[in-house]
Amino acid sequence: MLSVVIPAYNEELMVSKTASVLSGLLEQEHIPYELIFIDDGSKDGTWREVCEAHSENENVRGIHFSRNFGKEAAIFAGLSESRGECAAVMDCDLQHPPATLVEMYRCWEDGFEVVEGVKRTRGKESVAHRTATGIFYGIMSRAVKIDMSRASDFKLLDRKAVDSLLEMPERNAFFRAMSSWIGFRQKQVEFDVQEREAGESKWSTRRLVSYAISNIVGYSTAPMQIVTGAGIVVFLLAIVLGIQTLVRYCTGHAVEGFTTVILLILLIGSVIMISLGIIGYYIARIYEETKRRPKYIISKKI
Ligand code: UDP
Ligand code: MG
Repeated sequence: MLSVVIPAYNEELMVSKTASVLSGLLEQEHIPYELIFIDDGSKDGTWREVCEAHSENENVRGIHFSRNFGKEAAIFAGLSESRGECAAVMDCDLQHPPATLVEMYRCWEDGFEVVEGVKRTRGKESVAHRTATGIFYGIMSRAVKIDMSRASDFKLLDRKAVDSLLEMPERNAFFRAMSSWIGFRQKQVEFDVQEREAGESKWSTRRLVSYAISNIVGYSTAPMQIVTGAGIVVFLLAIVLGIQTLVRYCTGHAVEGFTTVILLILLIGSVIMISLGIIGYYIARIYEETKRRPKYIISKKI
């Protein structure tokens, strides 16, 4: 059986459409399936729509979070509820084409254990957005040592891969990177990002930036190396200026250079503060993880 995990946050306009498109297609292809909608604490009628879809089709299941825990948490909840021999993750807005899901399923039948959907085209995006995602995926790709520039959350995983993902204890999970990191027989399937059919994107710029920072801190120590680098640069500067100051002292014109003092205090002060901030992110992450809170809280299931 194929379990399709579908995170849904304020998607009342899309749930029934997505459920009928997917079930129609999978039945036509004779693929046994279950659709698991994870209502990520929606404020609209998403849960009502999921219940309705369930009463029309018993292959539709639903999980309702007690509040909004974010897409990553929703994906992991869906995976841990899934009962199929393989599980796919796709968006509720049909931006991930259902036809590609069938293609991925066929790859799984051919023995691939992690089938990744990669974006052939990225759909409509502004220049600023494109640049920011470029930088983000540059850092992430280096951290995970896998090219992630075209990665998406649209993936199909074998039971073995799902179980190994679920065994990972970290609270701040990043599905896209973790599913590449686990290894197994991987295959990529290209797809074109579709236009969203109804509703709007749930990601504000602010949310995307904090999501990016949190994932970089979770996966890469590169920012810490920047701190070390800045330290070395300031140290070299200190040697040069130190020698100059001593020479001036010995030759008897020491009292000048108040401007230099002000500039140095400002420079070193800001380097130290930025460095502390960067280290602070990592400490915050350690603190978060040591609390051992659950990734999500489920309030209802059908
Ligand atoms: N989503 C979610 N929780 C959130 C935000 C989004 O479960 O807090 C779901 C959303 O319902 C959709 C998917 O994640 O199924 C992708 O969201 P969206 O389409 O808004 O993102 P975009 O396609 O614009 O990147
Ligand atoms: Mg979308």
